[in-house]
Amino acid sequence: MDETVLQHSIPAPVPSERTGQVVMDVRTIKKSLPLGREQIDILKGISFQIFSGEFVSIIGPSGSGKSTLLGIIAGLDNPTSGEVLIDGVDIARMTEGRLAEVRNSKIGMVFQAFNLIPTLTAQENVEVPLYVGKHKLSPSARAKELLGLVGLSHRLGHRPTQLSGGEQQRVAIARALATNPAIVIADEPTGNLDAKNGENILNLITDLRTQMGKTFIIATHDQNVAARAERAIHILDGLVESIDTRLERGSE
Ligand code: ADP
Ligand code: MG
Repeated sequence: MDETVLQHSIPAPVPSERTGQVVMDVRTIKKSLPLGREQIDILKGISFQIFSGEFVSIIGPSGSGKSTLLGIIAGLDNPTSGEVLIDGVDIARMTEGRLAEVRNSKIGMVFQAFNLIPTLTAQENVEVPLYVGKHKLSPSARAKELLGLVGLSHRLGHRPTQLSGGEQQRVAIARALATNPAIVIADEPTGNLDAKNGENILNLITDLRTQMGKTFIIATHDQNVAARAERAIHILDGLVESIDTRLERGSE
């Protein structure tokens, strides 16, 4: 479908109580997969909006559909139906080439298992996104700058196996920020870390968000992680159960 037509045919959503712009508009996302002769409905019609600069958690028990949802809003997987508008353009219907460009320039992704390239050093891992697509930034200068920001200036030449879990996740966060994307999406980023390192990573994410004004979306099954976000989208059995803010939760 022609993206420009789509862009103009859908009226811009009006945030009621928020001043921020809508950076992501998720509309009735469904995802079904064949299972033998049957099909399983993993996501059953999920809708929400994310505003610029927000820190949002997607919370739900294991198996509720968080990773499937994150894969779709990050453009790594296709929904069966529904739309994901990023800056007003539907990524669910983009050509693979255009989608790769959007993923590279607008979205940074952090995974539970870090997903660093084992044969590359910390610095080289952070440089990778800058060698994909067109970027004005110098990969080595940018990687050093970001590794400094996450407290790893002394680990530039280390490979993932020579780093602790907490350090690997810091490298992964630096990599996610390399192209200066507007949105960072993290799937259970503290899930493979002990309590102390998990807390450090959350502090880092909170600081980076304040400093850089980026939008962070974090999926978690952990109430303590979700409590750090300004808004929580509760997912249960492939549906949005409720959406609340930190003030409503009374944990400020
Ligand atoms: P969460 O991240 O919240 O734990 P997932 O999105 O990983 O949930 O999975 C949601 C449900 O969909 C689970 O019941 C899971 O078993 C199922 N599921 C996910 N991916 C697949 C797949 N590729 N094939 C079959 N079932 C899947
Ligand atoms: Mg998951």
